Amino acid sequence: MTNIIFFGPPGAGKGTQAKKISDLLKLEHLSTGEILRLKILQKDKLGLKLKDIMASGKLVSDDVLNEIVAEKIVTCKDTGFILDGYPRTLNQSRFLEKILKNNFLKLNFIFNINITFDTLKNRIINRSKEEGREDDNLDAIKTRYDAYLQTTTEVSNYYSSENPEIFFDIDGSDQIEEITNKIKKIIVK
Ligand code: AMP
Repeated sequence: MTNIIFFGPPGAGKGTQAKKISDLLKLEHLSTGEILRLKILQKDKLGLKLKDIMASGKLVSDDVLNEIVAEKIVTCKDTGFILDGYPRTLNQSRFLEKILKNNFLKLNFIFNINITFDTLKNRIINRSKEEGREDDNLDAIKTRYDAYLQTTTEVSNYYSSENPEIFFDIDGSDQIEEITNKIKKIIVK
């Protein structure tokens, strides 16, 4: 059983890589952005609130995310999972550690996909044409990138100093297949 975290700013390709690696290793792909987008479709009170926050590019509250992830991890703890988009704050990472400990689980790999703002800006604008995501516009991209730099980098730095043996920086400007191959090589070593 393998448990993995993918870090990376919006547009770094972490969702694409997480999907490929989860298919390959038969792991549950836990994309918190995807889970939240499904909740928006329910159009209830929470869904409407999420829609506004996410369209602006801001982070959704830790409480909402922690509850979602706790439930998902418990249901797929025997399969193994890839966390894509979580944890994004130190509060979330502390919560994750608690869930892992309570369920006798550990992390096996952490991949940190790096990319410059210019590269991701172009990628996201192209993605918006294909997927029609409301938060794939320039203002929201800037807010999401800033949230990443201000909040999530602190989280990835924490893991890189606490777990250097399982933490791997990956160049996100490479081609998709090349990145997947690099990740696969690390996993099967
Ligand atoms: P993503 O698909 O990972 O880029 O996430 C899309 C949006 O969902 C983000 O811009 C946030 O508004 C929200 N979101 C996803 N995951 C989290 C998280 N772990 N903490 C807070 N907000 C999140």
